[in-house]
Amino acid sequence: MRYEGTVYRPPSEAHSLILQATIGCSYNRCTYCAMYLEKRFRQRSREDLLEDMALAQAHLGAESVRRVFLADGDALIMRTSRLLRLLEDLRDHFPNFQLASVYASPQALLAKSVEEIAELKDAGLPLYYLGTETGHPVVMERIAKGVTPAQMVDAAGRVTGAGAKLSVIMLLGIGGTELSHDHAVESGRIVSAMDPRFVSTLTITPVPGTKFHEDVESGRVELPDDRGTLLELRTMIEHMDCTRTVYRGNHASNSLPLGGILPRQKDELLAVLDQVIADTSIPLRPRPSPHRL
Ligand code: SF4
Repeated sequence: MRYEGTVYRPPSEAHSLILQATIGCSYNRCTYCAMYLEKRFRQRSREDLLEDMALAQAHLGAESVRRVFLADGDALIMRTSRLLRLLEDLRDHFPNFQLASVYASPQALLAKSVEEIAELKDAGLPLYYLGTETGHPVVMERIAKGVTPAQMVDAAGRVTGAGAKLSVIMLLGIGGTELSHDHAVESGRIVSAMDPRFVSTLTITPVPGTKFHEDVESGRVELPDDRGTLLELRTMIEHMDCTRTVYRGNHASNSLPLGGILPRQKDELLAVLDQVIADTSIPLRPRPSPHRL
């Protein structure tokens, strides 16, 4: 396959074919995100994408491709008609194609109607990863998500309202020690309001070259330590009131891999966290450098 620059995907898409439908992120302003700083945003032509599909057929075998992740940062920003044609091309090239998924920025979701998302879902795009990061209005503004919590919930509702699957990502530590507790409470509440199929937590890792890294280096933001971060996670999960949500906290950035079904295993998750927070002799997983995430 041909890829431009570093390509990122959610951990759960490890076995998917990654297709770079767009290059970079059309928004590219979140203060902690360095993933696409070096890339000029653009959409790739249908001819380019057809060539990539032919390459995947040749190297992987047409029958082996079942899932496709549409990269880069917010391929959902493409016009719905263009996405529908891309999904049709995927079905034509891969007889066992089951589904595609995509990172969905709130801006990209808010530009689509529930009906458009439903049409995309029926055409093979039923899973949307939304980097929500926080439910706290001040934190959301500081990290320049470009939307308010209410707009974030509206964006999420376009997915769930269409009957598609929503996977939300929350960032531990993003409010610093100053707003750690409030960030956790509001994040739990926004997850409850979205009631997603999946929620995952990552721990913020300041990446050189970002404004967030500058803020940490200059002392404007102080990050919680490992057990402070776990306390934040505990508060966040405590405030998650979901109908049936799969929680995943196994990302490499987290010092304690965790997972479970909410609300069924909420008490178990909280008990594990209480134990680890209280007992400092329990070793935690070393945090990787930004380059290994
Ligand atoms: S929308 Fe996503 S990919 Fe784009 S800058 Fe923000 S976090 Fe990074």
